[in-house]
Amino acid sequence: MSCVFCGGNVVAKKATFIYEHGEQLLVIRGVPAEVCTTCGERTYSPEITDEIMKFAKQRFQPIKLIEVPVFDYGHKVATAV
Ligand SMILES: [Zn+2]
Repeated sequence: MSCVFCGGNVVAKKATFIYEHGEQLLVIRGVPAEVCTTCGERTYSPEITDEIMKFAKQRFQPIKLIEVPVFDYGHKVATAV
């Protein structure tokens, strides 16, 4: 199997999937993915995508909560040091 974008080699890896769900950002670790060794493009099988969607719809217990800084590309303000 090769990458649909660059034709590079694709290997099976565990990836971190980040999914925006309204005001929530879901981070799902250890998702089986096919990752291109050249450009890093990740592909998920339809079965895995279905599983991922369950995390958005069902309220599973997260393993931990992290604080995420949110930036806006058009709004750059240096922090006071
Ligand atoms: Zn690629």
